[in-house]
Amino acid sequence: MTFPFEALSACRAELEAEATINDGPAAFPRHGLDRLRALGVLSAALPQACGGHGFGTEAHGASGLLHMLRLVGHGSLALGRIVEGHVNALRLIACYGTQARMAQVAAAVHDGALFGVWVTDGAQPLAMEAGDGAVTLHGGKAFASGVGHVTHALVTAATQGGNVHMLLVGVADTSRVHHGPDGLAGMRGAGTGRYDFTGMGVQADCMVGQAGDYLRQPEFSAGAWRAMAVALGGIERLATVLREQLAARGRAQAPAQQARIGDALIAAETAFLWTHRAAMLAAAPDRHATGDIAATVNLARLAVERAGLEVIGLVQRGLGLAAFVRTNPAERLLRDLATYLRQPAPDETLCEAAGWFTHRDLPRMEAT
Ligand SMILES: Cc1cc2nc3c(=O)[nH]c(=O)nc-3n(C[C@H](O)[C@H](O)[C@H](O)COP(=O)(O)OP(=O)(O)OC[C@H]3O[C@@H](n4cnc5c(N)ncnc54)[C@H](O)[C@@H]3O)c2cc1C
Repeated sequence: MTFPFEALSACRAELEAEATINDGPAAFPRHGLDRLRALGVLSAALPQACGGHGFGTEAHGASGLLHMLRLVGHGSLALGRIVEGHVNALRLIACYGTQARMAQVAAAVHDGALFGVWVTDGAQPLAMEAGDGAVTLHGGKAFASGVGHVTHALVTAATQGGNVHMLLVGVADTSRVHHGPDGLAGMRGAGTGRYDFTGMGVQADCMVGQAGDYLRQPEFSAGAWRAMAVALGGIERLATVLREQLAARGRAQAPAQQARIGDALIAAETAFLWTHRAAMLAAAPDRHATGDIAATVNLARLAVERAGLEVIGLVQRGLGLAAFVRTNPAERLLRDLATYLRQPAPDETLCEAAGWFTHRDLPRMEAT
């Protein structure tokens, strides 16, 4: 069975309408998530042998996943963040977990489970103490997407000796959930919050892979292409809104506005080309050096960020004050994209990539 891209495409307006309603109260997009689940978006990342399309878990699924994440991003960046976290978890389990674990995960996904990857530590970083077949957790995670809605989180936790493990844990205990931070400007529908793991005991078989696997390259850097694919959706949506609103106001023919439309389209296409390139390289780890993949995806991350920031500026200047009026959908889209683009350690990402390619050329596309 092929993935229903047309149906997903058709429901983007519905996702956007819910995102608009949810923005004020910072409500979680329950309806949109149910729609995506019904379309098979949450199971698409499972390997084909587990009833999925291999989107993200098998090399052939990279371009399908790019298209799927981009379409979700068109409709709602908040939902895109949730889906991207879910896919990320399935990908890491496929890479580092056992087949038996993947089979359990697949059964849970087919049963409606939502996965997430929570690595950003709270004020007290997540620590683990292993003993006699069990692990006790202390501390918590912050900026965790979908907290209170995600059923299983893949978390990183450090031992006293500093080894970092991935653990797959149930996170349905709502008494451990703390919503917020209050007043987040954008991405208010992503259900971001803290989860306190202190005192939680889990079986030792919750560990996925070996210590250090989470930071193993190229996966650690390469995985960022999926977040770019969601951002790409937001960038493309804003470029479309710019064109539509300028045309509706009879302002699209002014030469300066035409230049903005052209520049926004160039930026959006640049984001697409870099994301596509990153996705293709990440899907071919046997054909490229680990450092080439990691550094190219890092450059792509910065290129997509730059494209997004450029489109934000173009929309603000092109639409003027109208882009700052809450009732204009562009206003929320701008806030959501600006917030989404804040990914970890951008300076380090650029410098590491620049360092790698100082004495090497970028891998060429024709070699992929
Ligand atoms: C809506 C939303 C959902 C999220 N969902 C999740 C989730 O589900 N799971 C999860 O794990 N995380 C999640 N996060 C957190 C996210 O992945 C990033 O950690 C966060 O957005 C990074 O933000 P930052 O700009 O503060 O990054 P930072 O890395 O703090 O960067 C800020 C600036 O400081 C610079 N900088 C960084 N380190 C240093 C340093 N040591 N010295 C000097 N300068 C430095 C950077 O280059 C950059 O210029 C989410 C965040 C948001 C907003």
